[in-house]
Amino acid sequence: MFMRVDKLQAELPVPKKADPNAAAALQELLGGKYGEMSTLNNYMFQSFNFRSKEKLRPFYSLVAAITAEELGHVELVSNGIAMLANGPDKKDGDAGDGGDISDAPFADMSDMRLAAAFLSNGGGATPVNSNGVSWNNDFVTTTGNVVTDLLHNFHLECGARLHKLRVYETLTDPTGREVCGYLLVRGSVHAHAYALALKQITGVAIEKMLPTPNINLDKIPECQKYLQEGSHRRLYTFSPDDYREMAGIWGNGEMALPGDPPGELEVVDGMPEGGKIHQLTGVPSAFTPDYAPEEMFEIATKLYKASR
Ligand code: MN
Ligand code: MN
Repeated sequence: MFMRVDKLQAELPVPKKADPNAAAALQELLGGKYGEMSTLNNYMFQSFNFRSKEKLRPFYSLVAAITAEELGHVELVSNGIAMLANGPDKKDGDAGDGGDISDAPFADMSDMRLAAAFLSNGGGATPVNSNGVSWNNDFVTTTGNVVTDLLHNFHLECGARLHKLRVYETLTDPTGREVCGYLLVRGSVHAHAYALALKQITGVAIEKMLPTPNINLDKIPECQKYLQEGSHRRLYTFSPDDYREMAGIWGNGEMALPGDPPGELEVVDGMPEGGKIHQLTGVPSAFTPDYAPEEMFEIATKLYKASR
């Protein structure tokens, strides 16, 4: 089962300006081949299909717990995309109606790379890549063979790291850069974890291939806060009671990678502290949440009071 918590895994800074093309670049980290939809669905279906779960508990727990984290990454990137598309909060967004819409208020949007992100999705995220091509099931590998699946996951996390570094290099806005910085730290943890799992089974010290690509996280300013907190040494169970068995792989005297701040690896019960979900205000002229939302707000206020 999954439990949902109404927070993000990291707090995102408010964008300086609306930048739908930057939002489109960030889409690569959501719906690209190595994006969060891919990591989520690979680990999720591998964990569903896992054979001999009880006998292979540490390996099963690792894949199952990381699945939950990846679902939160899908949420984080999606929020970042919507924030970049939306820009700074419009003070009057939740007051009044959409006004006169007859003079093409969104003429600029016809020039945006992903025009459908506005025209169909109201400035929100969808599981497509930076060119608007749909994420699809062909990106999912679940062979039933534990070594092959773990090798695939190791490759996927290294590919994701490459994706994130390139997207990071295209962005100037703090929102998108923070998404990349946080996910680079967490993706590096996952690559390390899958390497250690493979080492336990095969005896091959695959973690010596890390970091791939060969750049340490200390070169990226947005990663520093998370490194100082020790995020690069932690795996979370994302569960009140389950999945602690992965500590046999992530722990057990294993240390942080040589290029990162030193320390022992640890499994943490539950989830990171995280940050608040940014409240996107309405854009009545784009009919989000509607052209004249006043009555809708009133109904919701009544329902909220009735629930207390
Ligand atoms: Mn991820
Ligand atoms: Mn990952």
